[in-house]
Amino acid sequence: GAKARGRGALCFFAEEMTLAARERLELESRLRQALLQGQLLLYYQPQVDIASGRIIGAEALLRWPDPQEGMISPARFIPVAESSGLIGPLGEWVLRTACQQGQRWHEAGLPAVTIAVNVSPRQFQLTDLVACVHSALADSGFAADCLELEITESALADRFEETLQVLLRLRDLGLHLAVDDFGTGYSSLAHLKRFPIDVLKIDQGFVRDIPHSADDMAISAAIIAMGHSMGLRVLAEGVETPAQLAFLRERGCDSYQGYLRSRPLPAADFAALLGAQSTGAAG
Ligand code: C2E
Ligand code: MG
Ligand code: MG
Ligand code: MG
Repeated sequence: GAKARGRGALCFFAEEMTLAARERLELESRLRQALLQGQLLLYYQPQVDIASGRIIGAEALLRWPDPQEGMISPARFIPVAESSGLIGPLGEWVLRTACQQGQRWHEAGLPAVTIAVNVSPRQFQLTDLVACVHSALADSGFAADCLELEITESALADRFEETLQVLLRLRDLGLHLAVDDFGTGYSSLAHLKRFPIDVLKIDQGFVRDIPHSADDMAISAAIIAMGHSMGLRVLAEGVETPAQLAFLRERGCDSYQGYLRSRPLPAADFAALLGAQSTGAAG
């Protein structure tokens, strides 16, 4: 009867919860192992100057190759790392690896490009981010002005004074700061103008439906105009089509990332692309 069915549904629900929690724990312990055993990788997605078409930077993106699952998406494991605190050591590994890689490319004679590294809001709370960045730069020898830290707009939304102090000290190290996923958070413009920011990254959600969505075109154009009037550079994420690029160019957007130019690449493939550009073989 109804009562039995009700109890059954409740049981099923409880089992589902346990399963989800167990899966999360298991994912966390596998991630910890992967980090310890050196199984994580950084891929690099070119950032392209719209006016010249040249690669001027790369965003470092975490990749976790798994024998059973193929690549496990950072969208799946970053939240697990954040809730477990593993994001502390994981974020430090990303910073160190990106700086070491950038320095190796520099020493190999490749043209200087900016390397952008994602920083989770939790890293502000869990680690002394300034000390961590400082030692990643010092130990690798990588030039601070070639490093850019990407902070999501939502990370800027709370604890204004504390966040401001950390950002000011980071900027004192000589690096650049970008606001990631701009337009999706709730940061106030009054706060935004007080942060020592260099770049706004238009969230790919606003780029996806250009040129079909009049709203998204208006929003993207407004972000570009606002960013420029605040003296910032503006980069568009997730550019996949020539029509999207044409619109962004017309509106004066400075740079872009997206499948139109390249997916995120293994380090060696990115270096090859950069090398080919500097010898004029591609660009
Ligand atoms: P994000 O920082 O906004 O990175 C951009 C995401 O868009 C990347 O996904 C990238 O592969 C994807 N993408 C680039 N071009 C295109 C395009 O043309 N079309 C589409 N549909 N997607 C494009 P990915 O690599 O899966 O990373 C997802 C998110 O995971 C990142 O979003 C970032 O928030 C986070 N993440 C990745 N690596 C790290 C890391 O080292 N540390 C932290 N804290 N977060 C990371
Ligand atoms: Mg990013
Ligand atoms: Mg983004
Ligand atoms: Mg994103």
